[in-house]
Amino acid sequence: MSIVIENLTKKYGEQKAVNNISFEIKTGEVVGFLGPNGAGKSTTMKMITCYMSPSSGDVRLDNLSILDQPEEVKKKIGYLPENNPLYTDMPIVEYLRFAAEIQGVEKSKISTRIAEMIEMCGLDLEKHKKINELSKGYRQRVGLAQAMIHDPEVLILDEPTTGLDPNQIIEIRKLIKKLGKEKTVILSSHILSEVEATCDRILIINRGRIVADGSSETLRKQSQGQELLHVSIEAEDEEVKKELLALASVETVTAIDGKVGIFTVQSKPEKESRKAIFDLCVSKKWYLLEMTGIETQLEDVFRDLTN
Ligand code: ADP
Ligand code: MG
Repeated sequence: MSIVIENLTKKYGEQKAVNNISFEIKTGEVVGFLGPNGAGKSTTMKMITCYMSPSSGDVRLDNLSILDQPEEVKKKIGYLPENNPLYTDMPIVEYLRFAAEIQGVEKSKISTRIAEMIEMCGLDLEKHKKINELSKGYRQRVGLAQAMIHDPEVLILDEPTTGLDPNQIIEIRKLIKKLGKEKTVILSSHILSEVEATCDRILIINRGRIVADGSSETLRKQSQGQELLHVSIEAEDEEVKKELLALASVETVTAIDGKVGIFTVQSKPEKESRKAIFDLCVSKKWYLLEMTGIETQLEDVFRDLTN
């Protein structure tokens, strides 16, 4: 099931929390909304899931519109809201039965569905416990089970791993990856490694707008406009710095704090400096101990785009 988002906007008073965003998600894609707190991720998800109506714009799931067929849309979507609100007094099985009824799962199929969800989300050992007796990781699994109880084609997961310990995070990531093989998934996170680990495609959102869209690989490449080299030269530092800067292709030379003879050299746009640096060292009779390219980290891309 594909999702088309068209000029979606949400205003809170004067503030545009989501500002005229448009994009398309293909069937079976696992897409991550990445952005700092307050970027508009949850607001976007609430509109897609029909929990909040947009100020303008539309979302279409195949031929269904959130404006015209919200009830139909809700049936196609499983939603794990931020902070995963659960009825904490209920035992897991009862809660899932309740969720299944609300979602209109056929009566005769409810017990089978509950059993399947308990199996899939690894809840078997805890299934008779009340939700408030569970660890945060298990509550999150209950949240996922609840989201999937009606076997929706689309899953929308708002910060699914927030508050979990590292082991739980790995477990939930595995589960999301498994789900992603069959369903269209959108998840949000303010943590880059999170979306990188689980998503095929990343949308970076900042102040209500989409500022980047692509795989982690393409985002990294896009931002790699200028060559960055890590260079170690055995000679007098001040002179090395001056001579490197004098090369036609070099834009900046930064000495690494507290280290003798190690520099970060940034080339001018579209220029390369390796050969010139090598030739310089030969002509000056300096020892070139190391010269390696520095790959842009996705962290840097994220920071650049959202600062
Ligand atoms: P994110 O999920 O990316 O952290 P949100 O979508 O929750 O961001 O919020 C986007 C912006 O909208 C924030 O500035 C937030 O304070 C504001 N906001 C969110 N919900 C409301 C609301 N119900 N009323 C007023 N402002 C809101
Ligand atoms: Mg949020």
